[in-house]
Amino acid sequence: MHARFDELRTRLAEIHDLAKAAEILRWDEQVMMPPRGAAARAEQLATLNRVTHDRFTSPEIGRLLDDLAPFEEQHDFDSFEASLIRVTRRDWEKERKVPSDLRASMSRTATLGYATWVEARRTDDFSRFLPALREALELKRQYVACFDGDYDEPYDALLDDYEPGMKTAEVRETFEYLKEHQAPLVKEVVSHAGTPDQPTREFPVERQKEFELDVVRRFGFDPDSWRLDPTVHPFERNGSLQDIRITTRYFPTNLDGLFATMHEFGHGLYEHQVDPQLERTPLASGVSLAMHESQSRMWENLVGRSLPFWRFAFPRLAQLFPDAVAGEDAESWYREVNAVEPSLIRVEADEATYNLHIILRFELEQELLAGSFPLEQLQEEWDRRMWEYLGIEVPDAARGVLQDMHWSIGAVGYFSTYALGNLISAQIWAKVTDDLPDLDDRFEQGEFGALAAWLRENVHRHGRKFTPLETLERATGATRIDPEPYVRYLRRKLGDIYGLPVVGSR
Ligand code: ZN
Repeated sequence: MHARFDELRTRLAEIHDLAKAAEILRWDEQVMMPPRGAAARAEQLATLNRVTHDRFTSPEIGRLLDDLAPFEEQHDFDSFEASLIRVTRRDWEKERKVPSDLRASMSRTATLGYATWVEARRTDDFSRFLPALREALELKRQYVACFDGDYDEPYDALLDDYEPGMKTAEVRETFEYLKEHQAPLVKEVVSHAGTPDQPTREFPVERQKEFELDVVRRFGFDPDSWRLDPTVHPFERNGSLQDIRITTRYFPTNLDGLFATMHEFGHGLYEHQVDPQLERTPLASGVSLAMHESQSRMWENLVGRSLPFWRFAFPRLAQLFPDAVAGEDAESWYREVNAVEPSLIRVEADEATYNLHIILRFELEQELLAGSFPLEQLQEEWDRRMWEYLGIEVPDAARGVLQDMHWSIGAVGYFSTYALGNLISAQIWAKVTDDLPDLDDRFEQGEFGALAAWLRENVHRHGRKFTPLETLERATGATRIDPEPYVRYLRRKLGDIYGLPVVGSR
């Protein structure tokens, strides 16, 4: 039986190597590659993806999994052996249900759809994007049909790709809570504070780079295992647990890039701290997009936008950018980096308004999939909801319905994980701060190792051994994603900054 298990491991290790090689090619494409390399790179990636997919969905993997059923039962649920067999079986069964020609159509349509979207957004012409969107949605319906009967409702099949096991009904209920409790908080803040005026400042890019490296090194970035490079849209990718590539961008008049760097650091740390025993298996990665986003958001917001962090970091900031932050201190800077203002663009949204951007997309996606309104009306539906949820008028499609690339590549069901990640970050934070009551003092000293170690022990090391909810339960004791800690956190923080009356918090 050991021989069969070793054979499974060997095959999975090769598949993992292929997938990681593709990941480094993608990193290279977005960070290093000269533009004319794009056509050949698309072929290289398509070939690698096809070979990887064929190897993984081969009948031999299925036979190995069948043979290993008794071996799995001899091992504890928590063990490496049982977890590897269990998770591989789930992945294999799901992958097998989708015919290769549908996969190929989806990947071709994604490439074309992306190019169409870039053009439509550039020319601010929603109608130009319509045919591509129509085709992407049609393929999504065919994709959902592959799982006939496996899910309670069609959208579940899409969510499951990003957040395994998550149900639409559960997300809906969670988001209703946010509509009821988070949306009014935003209105309250805005009516209290008006819209903040942001003075123009200059942050020389070379100094930003220096400052950011200082910060992430304190967090745990070790140049022997990590890289930080500039790109257009920041992301994290990795070649292995010891080869973490994070990216960022720099704006000469603000420090948004710093928060992007801290965000991507959070993603990188999750991958870096997976148990080395899981390396070269399908378990060697974060468990879901929402859990991943909880980690990035934690370092970006709960750490990076906290007062203790800025009490530590502000003197260095003032040293590097004396003109830009003249007249500020840690407290005023903390208020500034937490300013709330409803805005058009999701990726620029603050902590208080971000989830509202997601709820709008989550609702529209279900209606798109169901065909609830003619596709031509999508722009109108978008604008109407922006007014309803955020109280702002959308001036054009480019800053409205065309702002995100996700739908162009068929990534429907993805958005919710951003908001769920925010919620999980607060759930985990509540537990972390119970276990480590002196965290604020440590941050003020520039000491972040205790937080990283807690996350390793309670979340990261498990990789994909357990489901997202099992992972959450192991870390926090909670059996579901609970929006209450996040709303409580926001209310306390914004109450503090904006001097709101203390209502409904404890
Ligand atoms: Zn992220």
